[in-house]
Amino acid sequence: MNIFETLESEVRSYCRGWPTTFDKATGSLLYDETGKEYLDFFAGAGSLNYGHNNPLLKRAVIDYMLADGITHSLDMHTAAKRDLLESFADIVLKPRNLDYKVMFPGPAGANAVEAALKLARKVTGREAIINFTNAFHGMTLGALSVTGNSMKRSGAGIPLVHATPMPYDNYFDGQTPDFLFFERLLADSGSGLNEPAAVIVETVQGEGGINAARAEWLRGLADLCQRNGILLIVDDVQMGCGRTGPFFSFEIAGIQPDIVCLSKSIGGYGLPLALTLLKPELDVWEPGEHNGTFRGINPAFVAATEALKVYWQDDKLEKSTLAKGEQVGRALTGLVESYPDVQMRAKGRGLARGLQFADAELADQVCKNAFEAGLLMETSGPDGEVVKLMPPLTISDDELEAGLSILAASVKGVLA
Ligand SMILES: *Cc1c(COP(=O)(O)O)cnc(C)c1O
Repeated sequence: MNIFETLESEVRSYCRGWPTTFDKATGSLLYDETGKEYLDFFAGAGSLNYGHNNPLLKRAVIDYMLADGITHSLDMHTAAKRDLLESFADIVLKPRNLDYKVMFPGPAGANAVEAALKLARKVTGREAIINFTNAFHGMTLGALSVTGNSMKRSGAGIPLVHATPMPYDNYFDGQTPDFLFFERLLADSGSGLNEPAAVIVETVQGEGGINAARAEWLRGLADLCQRNGILLIVDDVQMGCGRTGPFFSFEIAGIQPDIVCLSKSIGGYGLPLALTLLKPELDVWEPGEHNGTFRGINPAFVAATEALKVYWQDDKLEKSTLAKGEQVGRALTGLVESYPDVQMRAKGRGLARGLQFADAELADQVCKNAFEAGLLMETSGPDGEVVKLMPPLTISDDELEAGLSILAASVKGVLA
């Protein structure tokens, strides 16, 4: 028995799939204490889009700390926060013609979601939120109430209320017109659906099984919200910051959500940071109405600013993510075709990809084989039936190929 098993709570999870002790990492590689190397196709669940210990971001953080830059500041004005806001406006918002105010909630995705839900309710004076089948929005009570997974929901211990799930894109395998059910309930005064304050959606469901909504479905959703006076919240915690190619995952649809949640890779270096973006006319908060002690972690601001400056002043990263995503997509389609007798499906877009099996056991075994061979991948989907591939966006072509070879061998080991 080691200290993790004797002292750390049973709630620990990722470590169970990857039973070793890691101690170093750089770029797309992690090393355990024995020096064994692992390729990282997990990337901190999307928190490490620029890789582990990215040298450019590390330099900025170290320089800042060595100069006695402020570390903790609640929401006081600091130079590091000003730099981040200015860079975010100049590099992210203005070139995309997006007009948002920036709110700093507590530094986690769930808190960005809680803030979004609170705000939508405050602005509209309504309680009901529409979420989607297989959604994941975080583990706090409000975020759980709009999350699909029954195991995670059951952890709440109290009723999770004021949310109504609707079918996500392609939930009925293309057999029903988009939003048939949703539109009917909204139009029918006998439907029992309370007037919604907001719809919350992921453009690609990461935890839900790498389900990628089509651009036209997202446009349809934005249009439905507009027509019905419902606010549209895009939870871009996992798929934002370039995971699908463009900075925001909703850019392919040309929509402008009312509220956007960012976390995971916005801190750049794996440091905790979250932002809730809101249309200026929605900014009805009272000072301190949503609060939190750790909303001013300045080293995260510094890393976030540097990441924007290094990776988002041109479209190089976006283009390479799309190209690498295609490469992974082709490899997955190739795997599906090499086993015509096995039910498998290639899913996702950009560098958020998945290989779905009919049986979750198979997906789990593929990830176990991959771990043995030095590749970290997790499963996702309601039963864990999808092998999830999310390498750092900065991964080299050679590393990507090496990981895909291990994946192919791991699949072969399970199916052959
Ligand atoms: C990870 C995630 C969250 C929750 O973020 P935490 O930092 O774990 O609280 C919310 N929404 C989505 C889409 C996520 O992937």
